[in-house]
Amino acid sequence: MTLTTETSESALPRGLDLDSELERGRRAYELDRTHVFHSWSAQDQIDPMTIVASEGSYIWDGNGRRLLDFSSQLVNTNVGHQHPRIVEAIREQAARLCTVAPQYVNDARSEAARLISERTPGDLNKIFFTNGGADANEHAVRMARLHTGRYKVLARYRSYHGGTDTAINLTGDPRRWPNDYGNSGVVHFAGPFLYRSQFHATTEHEECQRALESLERTVQLEGPSTIAAIVLESVPGTAGIMVPPAGYMRGVRAICDRYGIILIADEVMAGFGRTGHWFAIDHFGVIPDLITFAKGVNSGYVPLGGVAISAEIAATFADRAYPGGLTYSGHPLATAAAVATINAMEDEQIVDNAARIGNEVLGPGLRDLATKHPSVGDVRGLGVFWAIELVADRTTREPLAPYGTSSPAMAAVIAACKANGILPFANFNRIHAVPPCTVSDTEVVEGLKALDAALDVADSHIVS
Ligand code: PLP
Repeated sequence: MTLTTETSESALPRGLDLDSELERGRRAYELDRTHVFHSWSAQDQIDPMTIVASEGSYIWDGNGRRLLDFSSQLVNTNVGHQHPRIVEAIREQAARLCTVAPQYVNDARSEAARLISERTPGDLNKIFFTNGGADANEHAVRMARLHTGRYKVLARYRSYHGGTDTAINLTGDPRRWPNDYGNSGVVHFAGPFLYRSQFHATTEHEECQRALESLERTVQLEGPSTIAAIVLESVPGTAGIMVPPAGYMRGVRAICDRYGIILIADEVMAGFGRTGHWFAIDHFGVIPDLITFAKGVNSGYVPLGGVAISAEIAATFADRAYPGGLTYSGHPLATAAAVATINAMEDEQIVDNAARIGNEVLGPGLRDLATKHPSVGDVRGLGVFWAIELVADRTTREPLAPYGTSSPAMAAVIAACKANGILPFANFNRIHAVPPCTVSDTEVVEGLKALDAALDVADSHIVS
């Protein structure tokens, strides 16, 4: 593989040797294509990017080219790549104690549980650790079913809750379709999304009221006494970063209270600083009964997820065994990484940085791009959690890729992002600007410049 002039100028971070890392990357690519089976993909139709190094807000690809990571990988590297305090904590923990079974006490797990409990709202002070977000949702639903003695679960369309059986059935996006056997007791409802309102609403207030009325009607028609839980991403992520209107989450909480239904807030993507608060639900002053988390809890340096449990639900399992567990629940390497992540976020005011970046740099910058580029139908978000909705026609709001798929136009926009130096998160007709919570002002400006150039490509695909 020959390097272009541009790539040969890139030096790798921390003194890593370019030639040997590129050689390692080439070997990795060959083995990947021979032996690795990738998620959500037709195996012969993909050409995955190799990543040979990373640091802070940047990654280096298999050509040694530096790209600004505006995706935070899968929206998980909230403290950026290779944060030295977390790398060191993992190293130290590995030297002291690599693994213990979940029935034993371990200091990393205990301390992580304390730090998480101190940040969750209300009395969600018990933590059940899982390996990631999907199994956190599986267990939250199991807890809600056992606590209420009811089976059905309500979840919204335009949502993602994970790839395991219950989690994918909860999911309200096309990834559920081939996995949906219709037997999980899940009922979907439409949540608020003014830009593509299903309620013919023209204001956020109308959208909020009508979405709540519709949800309550669904509860009544399904039979309140059959419904264990309503599961909601506090701010839906992959499905489009639709920040709920003021009053919506409070309204959902009130419906749950009226009918004895458990409210599960899925904070797997939105939690741990991404929206400029520790949890996205904090924007709405609502206390759910269960919070599921993963990703940002330790920036994904070691797989970890969990459920934060209210005192009332925890009491259900005081004298009755909770029928669930995992070999790696609260794994020391993962929880030591969580302890270091949360402490670093606190000490370095990383959550505040995410809020400030959203309010002062990224949000205003994206809104400026929306005024300049006719292909931008909508820009929305909070903190370092933003979606740019691309349309072929601003009047009809026809998306630049049909729901559930990509399009040549979107592929060209994504390619232009990469050509201009950023790694974007893309879904259907949207580009998400989701850099780490640690991103600097100058890095955001660099990212906005690259997006500006990529949006010129999007503009060339609009229908006149
Ligand atoms: N819930 C939400 C909101 C997510 O965004 C994701 C993953 O993207 C999940 C659950 C599933 O998490 P995991 O992939 O760790 O199982």
